[in-house]
Amino acid sequence: MSRPASVGEDRPRRLVVLAGPTAVGKGTLSAYIRDNFPEVWLSVSATTRRPRPGEVEGIHYHFVDEPEFARMEQDDELLESAVVHGHNHYGTPRGPVEQALREHQMALLEIDLQGARQVRATMPEALFVFLAPPSWDELVRRLVGRGTEDEEERNRRLETAKVEMAAEDEFDVTIVNDDVRRAAEELVSLMRSH
Ligand code: 5GP
Repeated sequence: MSRPASVGEDRPRRLVVLAGPTAVGKGTLSAYIRDNFPEVWLSVSATTRRPRPGEVEGIHYHFVDEPEFARMEQDDELLESAVVHGHNHYGTPRGPVEQALREHQMALLEIDLQGARQVRATMPEALFVFLAPPSWDELVRRLVGRGTEDEEERNRRLETAKVEMAAEDEFDVTIVNDDVRRAAEELVSLMRSH
């Protein structure tokens, strides 16, 4: 199974890994980038989570069952993978990322902290960007306001978010998600400048 031909010096930091606490708005930011910056190639993750209303197979995620996810892991098809919020599996399909980099595209992975650490171990030359909320209170407000999780799930995600907030120092750059358009423009201009 071929490993990524190391992301060599000819394409430094073309791969950008965006992580940040739950509910900070990574999904909204990625959607904004998908709609407004077609020059950015966005990785589509595989997940065992059920689709939310409006989510489309192949655009937001590849929705797979547990055996299929296990097979992808077994066959080394995932660049990184993690169990997020205690139960669902998420992972980045390796082949499309390698292809985007071969084609010299600007590639963006929007993943959780555990995944970002795994990518750092295999592709340290990527640019690691932490998306931060304007404040902790604002993060809580966004998580409650989203209304997509029940209370137990919300509490679990808040616990995760606390740990994730403490990891900011591990990242190369922080972008504050105060406004999705502004944050997207900052991220894309950062990508262009690398
Ligand atoms: P959600 O279920 O709300 O779409 O995403 C939950 C969390 O999973 C988010 O923090 C998101 O960044 C993370 N996530 C999405 N795709 C991946 C992936 O491919 N790998 C990892 N490690 N995390 C992911």
